Parts: sequence; C-alpha cells; structure tokens
Amino acid sequence: ATPTSIMVGSGRGAEQGILFKGGEYLEGTQAIEAVLLDKTGTITEGKPRVTDVLTLSGKEEDFSLVASAEKRSEHPLAEAVIAYATEREITVIDPASFEAVSGHGVFAKVDGYDVYVGTRKLMNERGINISDAEDQMKNFEQEGKTAVLAAIDGEVRFLIAIADTVKQTSKQAIKDLQGIGIEVYMMTGDNTLTAKAVAKELDIPNNHVFAEVLPEHKAGKVKELQNIGKKVAMVGDGINDAPALATADIGMAIGTGTDVAIEAADVTLVGGDLSNISHAIRLSKKTMRNIR
Ligand code: ADP
Ligand code: MG
Repeated sequence: ATPTSIMVGSGRGAEQGILFKGGEYLEGTQAIEAVLLDKTGTITEGKPRVTDVLTLSGKEEDFSLVASAEKRSEHPLAEAVIAYATEREITVIDPASFEAVSGHGVFAKVDGYDVYVGTRKLMNERGINISDAEDQMKNFEQEGKTAVLAAIDGEVRFLIAIADTVKQTSKQAIKDLQGIGIEVYMMTGDNTLTAKAVAKELDIPNNHVFAEVLPEHKAGKVKELQNIGKKVAMVGDGINDAPALATADIGMAIGTGTDVAIEAADVTLVGGDLSNISHAIRLSKKTMRNIR
C-alpha cells in the first residue's frame, strides 16, 4: 500500500478505536482466516462475581479461611471471592503462606489450616476426594459458570459458583466474522463444560473450543492453527495471553486489558468491543484495494 493510503486507513481505524502499531499490521489484517478469542475479559466482561456458595460439610463460618486463602491471589476469581466475603462482613485475614498454582488455583496456610481453592485437578492432585461435589459442579458449569472447590485440611468443604457476563456486543461480533467467512475459535483456562456452555450461547462450534489450556500452552494453540495453514488473529486481554498474541499473525489486545497484552499485540481494540475485529479486516481490505 502507498504511504498515503496507509495513513488514511490508520486514521480511520483510530477514529473507530482500532489502533494499528504500524502500517504492516493494517496491511496484514486482510489476510486473517481464523480468529482465536480468549474467553475471560475478551468475550466476557472479565468482572466475575460469586453467585452461589454451597457448604458441602462442616461449619459455614469456615468460609472465612477460604476467602483468606485468596487474599494474596491476583486472579480475577480471587477478587470475586474477596468481594463476596467483604459484602457479607466475613473476616479476611493474611495467610501465613501463599502459593499460586498456575492454571489451577491457590494453596495457602491460614490460621494453621491447609486451604486449597481451585479446580478438580488441583484437588485430585492433592488426593482430596470431590465426589460429593461433582453433580453440583456440573450443574453450575452447564450454566456457563466457573465452579471452584475449596478444601480445608484435606476435606472438600465449599463449592463456589462464579459467573462472568458475556459482553453485549460479543454475539453479533462473532456472527459478523463468521458471515465474512472467518473461522472463530475460543480459548480458555476454564473447564470444558463451562467453556462449551458459553460457546453454545455464541454459536461457536464445539470443535472450535480449546478449554483447560494452561497459560504456558496458549501460544501453542495459535501454532496448531497456523500449522494447518491458517493466518491467525489472536484476541486477548491478559498477561497469560501475551505469548499467544506475539505468536499470532496478528495479535489484537483489548484496550481495557493488561499493559503486557497491549505491548505484545500488533493492534489495540480500544473499547474492547469485538465488532472492531471485522471492522479492522474490512478496513484492511479497503486499504489494500485502494493501491491495486
Ligand atoms: P483463565 O484466565 O481463563 O481463568 P487460568 O489459567 O488463570 O485461566 O485459570 C484456570 C482455572 O483455574 C480457573 O478457571 C479456575 O477454575 C482456576 N483458578 C485459577 N486461579 C484461581 C484462584 N485464585 N482461585 C480459584 N480458582 C482459580
Ligand atoms: Mg482473559
């Protein structure tokens, strides 16, 4: 493209809230064949809130230990648990020790108790029996919620359901992409049932859903799509998404997301409205047409 058409195209993009880091990305965007969307904070608002807490055994008051275990976590799910506790005036204390288990949850020592909060896998790996919670977990997950288990001293005690609202614009944005022949995929660290429930709401086919993807494997999913010959745009907001954003042919960061994601990406979608993905592709095609 000529410098002039690139300048004009970049300007149009900026007016709509699509910031290209350089002319080559405005040119490259027209070739995109597949869009891989992160779920939390990209498709959804990324403001999870606790909808239900079930006491599976023992004293309800011990939820205080669970909230305290999350105190030092920076995960949005932890923030939701802390907000829930704070609203109910449940005491949150400093854990004596804290460990984030990447992609799975947390382990903390609180007031002399061993507290685990997180996924089935976390509990299974620590030999904690979760059979009493399974049915209720599945019910929450089929509603598109994240079901988080909490165990104290080796016994599963609470089940926490956490919901995150899909952005109002996401469904139409995905439909628009599919309408212009782009394949839409979704990727998340969240469990498979939850991911599929959300995907179903958005008409993303099951075989386009990558769930339970560990942070260090996200970039690998981009490569998988590239290896079957596709030009891939990755869209994400989190620190976890940065390697995938850098690996993609075009990385698009959500403007309201983390600085790390924005730095790793080639394009910033300022308001986080996914409609701007198809707008960016259209703008790129138009810019390239102008010079032929
Ligand atoms: P994502 O960013 O898609 O949520 P993560 O890899 O950060 O993916 O987390 C994957 C899963 O691990 C979450 O869906 C949740 O079940 C569990 N998890 C991670 N961190 C925490 C935490 N602090 N408290 C409870 N569960 C957690
Ligand atoms: Mg995210």
